[in-house]
Amino acid sequence: MTTMNSEVVAGFRAALRGPVLQPGDPDYDAARTVWNAMIERRPALVARCAGTADVMAAVTFARRHGLPLAVRGGGHNIAGNALCDDGLVIDLSGMRGVHVDPDARLAWVDGGALLSDVDHETQAFGLAVPLGINSTTGVAGLTLGGGFGWLSRMFGLAVDNLVGAEVVTADGVRRHVGPDAEPALFWALRGGGGNFGVVTRFAFALHPAGPDVTAGLVVFAQADGREVLRRYRDLVDTLPDEVSVWAVLRKAPPLPFLPADVHGSDIVALAVFSPLAPQAVEPVIAPLRGFGRVLGEHVGAMPYTAWQKIFDPLLAPGARNYWKSHNFKRLSDDALDVVLRFAAAVPGPQCEIFLGLIGGRANVPAPDATAYPHRDILHAMNVHGRWLDAADDARCIGWARDFFAAAAAHAAGSVYINFMTQEEGGRIREAYGGNYARLVQVKRQYDPENVFRFNHNIASDS
Ligand SMILES: Cc1cc2nc3c(=O)[nH]c(=O)nc-3n(C[C@H](O)[C@H](O)[C@H](O)COP(=O)(O)OP(=O)(O)OC[C@H]3O[C@@H](n4cnc5c(N)ncnc54)[C@H](O)[C@@H]3O)c2cc1C
Repeated sequence: MTTMNSEVVAGFRAALRGPVLQPGDPDYDAARTVWNAMIERRPALVARCAGTADVMAAVTFARRHGLPLAVRGGGHNIAGNALCDDGLVIDLSGMRGVHVDPDARLAWVDGGALLSDVDHETQAFGLAVPLGINSTTGVAGLTLGGGFGWLSRMFGLAVDNLVGAEVVTADGVRRHVGPDAEPALFWALRGGGGNFGVVTRFAFALHPAGPDVTAGLVVFAQADGREVLRRYRDLVDTLPDEVSVWAVLRKAPPLPFLPADVHGSDIVALAVFSPLAPQAVEPVIAPLRGFGRVLGEHVGAMPYTAWQKIFDPLLAPGARNYWKSHNFKRLSDDALDVVLRFAAAVPGPQCEIFLGLIGGRANVPAPDATAYPHRDILHAMNVHGRWLDAADDARCIGWARDFFAAAAAHAAGSVYINFMTQEEGGRIREAYGGNYARLVQVKRQYDPENVFRFNHNIASDS
């Protein structure tokens, strides 16, 4: 890339409204830092695009000069796909605009927006899009892989609420896609990841939710985990779509509602959420308190935007992270025993196992209605290895891998694409199931040279 002389780079700079960063520039290191501190890559150029025209120019520039091309939305992907070595990164972090039309119940969201941007703008009108559980995640990567969170049982996945998008494809052309415009590309974007182009703007349908919701944690000792998890498994079969409960196993963080002697001990936390008022939710969650010895509870009315940020401190950028994930149709006793065995052996205070609950409206569409295919999955389990010191890499990664292997026999055999690490290329077909062949067709049509390959790649020649 040093052979790309300063004249060429100067010409590229002049063609963009946003800045272009190179090694040595003051913002360069920040621009190549992503959420997962295990990712260390050195792009030759980072184009901080200011708008669609910059993105079109950057795609064209990368192709003309044969540069590897990566696309950065929120930079949260565990695999570090937002970055490449020695190539060009299209960085959308300067494109975080959100425009809401409350009458039409629509939001237009720019390609670099974070969940917090969307929540802030939509909640001003008492509206929401079902997105994820950590407010600093990028809307783009989350949505392009499917996207589930607290509202998904009630309103479906992020992709189920995507009604249109503006995309810059590998030929540098800006396209509007939707149910009636380039429907094959629109289908592929709803789960197919960043394989098909740079999405500069998303259009989402909005739903009434908030400003207050009912949410919080009920915390049990892991010693009671066998009973708690079995009864949790049975409870989710009876939950209305308006209520979601996730289970998290970890060392207790120093939460103010937990007694000091519980901090650092092994817990099972049930995280409860509903957009309904507390009195409507109470009868549904009351049985949960009898699942075991409750060490502490904090459930009540709070602003939706506050709940969306509640786990941010536990998921802050800068730590080393390694994930392994399985989908489950239902949690068997054997699966839960494996969960408990490995939860009791977490290699560090930030490591955790979580059982996210999906189901409800997210499972209504047919598996081929969108590229995201897992419409029979109730739980996405994530084995979340998280630590600070590189000296702990082998120990923490080993724990996650051993757990993943032990749980495999009890899992559905599929995986959520957004939870896959960089080494899991072999699982891409598992992630797309019966939709893989159709995705290859769309890839051949829109990106035959595989310009967009820093993602969980659907190769046009596969
Ligand atoms: C702390 C944390 C919490 C999470 N919680 C949830 C959750 O609750 N629910 C859930 O579903 N997922 C969740 N995820 C997973 C998340 O969906 C993925 O990490 C997702 O890839 C993040 O998107 P991003 O834009 O931040 O990522 P990036 O790293 O910027 O990008 C991810 C991929 O998308 C591509 N991409 C990014 N922007 C664009 C664009 N505008 N156009 C085309 N391609 C683009 C990139 O090239 C890359 O391949 C979580 C992740 C983290 C780290």
